[in-house]
Amino acid sequence: MAILRRDLFTCQWRGCGRVEADTSLLVADHREPHRGDEALFWDERNLWCLCKPCHDSRKQREERSGG
Ligand SMILES: [Zn+2]
Repeated sequence: MAILRRDLFTCQWRGCGRVEADTSLLVADHREPHRGDEALFWDERNLWCLCKPCHDSRKQREERSGG
């Protein structure tokens, strides 16, 4: 939640920049997959605010690449 506020409820995905007032449509996402690494998991610099469509398409891409 702090991440969403820090990023002003704006999707940080390059080329998106959508401002979403409804926080249920925003996700605090890890830029780099934390893979169980607690330091990465909690590192605010590794977190950014994405809107759901961007988050979902990103996740799909990652899953397809076998990540
Ligand atoms: Zn977006």
